Amino acid sequence: SRQLFRLAQQVVQQIKDHGFQAYIVGGAVRDLILDRAVDDIDIATSAHPDDIMNIFSKVIPTGIEHGTVMVRHQHESFEVTTFRTESNYSDFRRPDKVDFVTNLNEDLARRDFTMNAIAMDQSLQLVDPYQGRQAIEEKIIRTVGDPRDRFLEDPLRMMRAIRFQAQLGFSIDSQALTAITENGSLLAKIAVERVAMEWEKMLKGSFFEQAQKSLLTTKLINHLPLFSKDLKTVDIFRDIDKRFSSFAEFVAYMSLKSAEQSVASWVKEWKLSNRIKKDSKLLEQLIVTYRQESVEWVVYQLPAHLIVPFSNLCCTIENETVTEKAIDQTKANLSIQTRKELAINGTDIISWFPNKEKGAWLQESLLQVEKAVVEGKLSNTKNEIREWLTNDNK
Ligand code: ATP
Ligand code: MG
Repeated sequence: SRQLFRLAQQVVQQIKDHGFQAYIVGGAVRDLILDRAVDDIDIATSAHPDDIMNIFSKVIPTGIEHGTVMVRHQHESFEVTTFRTESNYSDFRRPDKVDFVTNLNEDLARRDFTMNAIAMDQSLQLVDPYQGRQAIEEKIIRTVGDPRDRFLEDPLRMMRAIRFQAQLGFSIDSQALTAITENGSLLAKIAVERVAMEWEKMLKGSFFEQAQKSLLTTKLINHLPLFSKDLKTVDIFRDIDKRFSSFAEFVAYMSLKSAEQSVASWVKEWKLSNRIKKDSKLLEQLIVTYRQESVEWVVYQLPAHLIVPFSNLCCTIENETVTEKAIDQTKANLSIQTRKELAINGTDIISWFPNKEKGAWLQESLLQVEKAVVEGKLSNTKNEIREWLTNDNK
């Protein structure tokens, strides 16, 4: 993190050496002041994208129309964005046009919260026209300017205020809370994918419960996809008492808790990715399996990246303690890790039953063998498996 800042300072210096202004801005400055880990650093500059492409040898044009390019420096990436203002969010999705400006303060003025509107130069001096530093010390999320205007301009900011609360544990300024309460319905105009990105960060936040409370007291929750259609899901949300490790864990949780809403309905209403869809389906299915089958059989089907969410769901849904460590241990002790490790395959089974026609029985036999081996009821050798299958002693 410190090393990343040193590299960012070099990028800033290099831009300045060419006669332009440049600053580290946004979340990186906020998180540096808070002593939180920083993994990406944004730079704002008076230079235009073509100037930046002339200054640096490795530049990737990631968002030229918004004035953003990615500069590669010492194997790290930095988003470098030209000072700009944004005007007329008439469709509530993206600003109609971005105007490049020469003045840092104008660029800071377009930013959402005072804590996100601080700039820092190459010698770590702050430019802080909205007292962002003080807001950070007071642990307050305050909009730059009148909250009502800023939320009308871009309603996503209401959701962002609440996700920053979940991440930082700050309180939301009372005028901003009022403005959210009064303008929540505007959130419906925002592209659901953008809302989902903020929602995911909120779910994972260390101070999730504070955000949960704000969502309920401002009733912003009532304007979110699916919650707006089905008030029972709001009640389920109210009863949550723990943050989530991922969006997939949340979807599996909500689906398991609600008779009306399935994983499919969450995926549809929130336009979730195939990855989240696949993971939440598997998590839900494995919790159901866990109620009926052996732990070994569940753990065998559990991919490494779902161990933590599964362990959490055992606790929140099943009220049982199944630690990550216990799962790791069970997994390590399994006699096989995948079907490929079975001592036999389909061809072997066919050769043992020469009179049987091809059909579903083959896959069923394979599955029975796999399960018996995983559960330690059958040893993984060709002879034993043949015996077990042909004697029909399952
Ligand atoms: P994180 O650590 O989660 O990335 P961040 O503060 O960097 O937090 P981003 O969403 O990456 O948040 O946005 C970068 C910066 O751009 C913000 O700090 C803020 O200054 C500005 N910004 C982002 N989204 C908006 C918005 N909707 N309205 C106004 N300013 C915004
Ligand atoms: Mg960021």
